[in-house]
Amino acid sequence: MIRIIVAGAGGRMGRNLVRAIADEGLELTGATERPGSDLLGTNPGELAGVAASGILIVDSLKQCQAADVLIDFTLPESSLGHARFAAEAGMRMVVGTTGFTTTQLHEFKSVLAGNAVVMAANFSIGVNLALGLIQRAAGILDERYDAEIIEAHHKAKVDAPSGTALAMGRAVADGRETDFNEQAVYARHGHTGQRDPGSIGFSVIRAGDIVGEHTAMFAAAGDRLEIRHIATDRMTFATGAVRAAKWLKDQPPGFYDMRDVLEMQ
Ligand code: NAD
Repeated sequence: MIRIIVAGAGGRMGRNLVRAIADEGLELTGATERPGSDLLGTNPGELAGVAASGILIVDSLKQCQAADVLIDFTLPESSLGHARFAAEAGMRMVVGTTGFTTTQLHEFKSVLAGNAVVMAANFSIGVNLALGLIQRAAGILDERYDAEIIEAHHKAKVDAPSGTALAMGRAVADGRETDFNEQAVYARHGHTGQRDPGSIGFSVIRAGDIVGEHTAMFAAAGDRLEIRHIATDRMTFATGAVRAAKWLKDQPPGFYDMRDVLEMQ
């Protein structure tokens, strides 16, 4: 039986994670929320609309019972604190939080250097398959094809472009063996001049309750390919994250992504 702690258990993803853990019959041994949250002391199972859990939501990992895996979908600053705790406790970690700066990501990886970690900008199986297809397409459709990534999310999302959109851009760069940071174009406004060949453009929509939509477009004269993924329910990410937690239990220390979990590479 795998014992799991969910950080941010009251959040949109947190509630779906609690539900996915219950669906899989795994044991929830801890659930946290940010200090000061109205949800402290509430039952994570009831909050998620499943059977009541034997624990209540607390504001610190130190107050949780022992666990094999910590699942974290919160904010970059809190994920860093949680990573320090997991490193000290020797706990495996599944991380879905997005929006890390390069410095934060570097610190995160060095803190967790001795742990087994699955980190993915998107835990859906469809998206991870799309990443593989985009990399392959980009290797065939060279810089004569303009690559653009378009993404749409709900209005409460705080980072942009989404972690998944950035992963799609990196898949284009990897497929073409170019440097992603040199090719990425995040905004266009006013007199921009013509498009640079080989650049990878990003367009971002924030509106309503859109769960997550991503398109990678390759366009040349008279020829256009679009690889598109639409998520309609957050359970797709939660189910993937719980699958990663189960897979991680038997892995040696290392940083893994969802393509490792799905044995796609
Ligand atoms: P949300 O705001 O609904 O939930 C985040 C929760 O974390 C909130 O309830 C917040 O109170 C809590 N939190 C903040 N600081 C905390 C702390 N120190 N300790 C414990 N809890 C804390 O957001 P969300 O939509 O659930 O998304 C959370 C993160 O997951 C975002 O970065 C989002 O981009 C990412 N996300 C990733 C995937 C994926 O597949 N990788 C999918 C969806 C969302």
